[in-house]
Amino acid sequence: VVAYFIVARELNKRRTLLSQLEYARDAALTLARRQSDFLANMSHEIRTPMNGIMGTSELLLRTPLAPNQKDLAETIRYSAESLLVIINDILDFSKIEAGKLDFQVSDFDLRATVEQAVETVAATARKKSLELVTLVYRDVPEQLRGDAGRLRQVLLNLVGNAVKFTDRGEVVVRVTKQAETATHVTLKFSVTDTGIGIPKEFQEDIFEAFAQVDASRSRRFGGTGLGLAISKRLVQMMGGEIGVESEVGKGSTFWFTATLEKAEAGQPLSTYEMW
Ligand code: ADP
Repeated sequence: VVAYFIVARELNKRRTLLSQLEYARDAALTLARRQSDFLANMSHEIRTPMNGIMGTSELLLRTPLAPNQKDLAETIRYSAESLLVIINDILDFSKIEAGKLDFQVSDFDLRATVEQAVETVAATARKKSLELVTLVYRDVPEQLRGDAGRLRQVLLNLVGNAVKFTDRGEVVVRVTKQAETATHVTLKFSVTDTGIGIPKEFQEDIFEAFAQVDASRSRRFGGTGLGLAISKRLVQMMGGEIGVESEVGKGSTFWFTATLEKAEAGQPLSTYEMW
């Protein structure tokens, strides 16, 4: 009888512990869901008026303005744009974390997608007198099927960082073929810069959310620390990997792979559908 009671008590204890664990897990899940819902809603609510500010400042810039008024309107537009980039990052990150980000798949032209990303940073590179080179190798299929917008986002993030963290020299974007089957192709994209580089001990961390190399860098260069975390998740969704090789003072090469479907021959191009 004593043994029975001891066993019963132990079982009861274990059951209580299990139900407490289950309760804690459910509470954590609910909290995580609420948090990401909150972030998504808040980002959406902020995005709408931000777009209003940007649109209005653009309209304002098209009207005749005195030089100092033009400067003011440009500052409004630039600030709104910067804020929108941050909000979009938060929105994307919370969507990815909640498993709510879906790819919009369509046929696209690879070269045009790469060039679009590079073109976005070309003016900044020119201002810094950086050489910006794009090399898409000849055996890379041009017509692919996938989410061109998300591919461009990852590329833009890497090229944007390369230009941001490089003061002299060059930024080279390369696209090479790694493997190919009848229906799919695995590509390797790399962005090499001659910039400040990343210390070894930070090279893994920077792919985690909100990770920046150090406080003085983030104060100097700005940024949310979300870009690479988002890129890593997007690359994983494309069945690929992302990584970096870097040496302080010499530069960095960020690379990622992606397996994309080949577009069926003869299908009409829809490159510009995405934007
Ligand atoms: P953000 O640039 O918004 O801070 P990212 O996630 O894109 O966020 O990058 C995280 C950190 O990694 C950056 O703050 C920077 O310290 C470092 N980093 C990224 N790309 C480079 C690069 N090309 N050269 C040097 N440091 C880099």
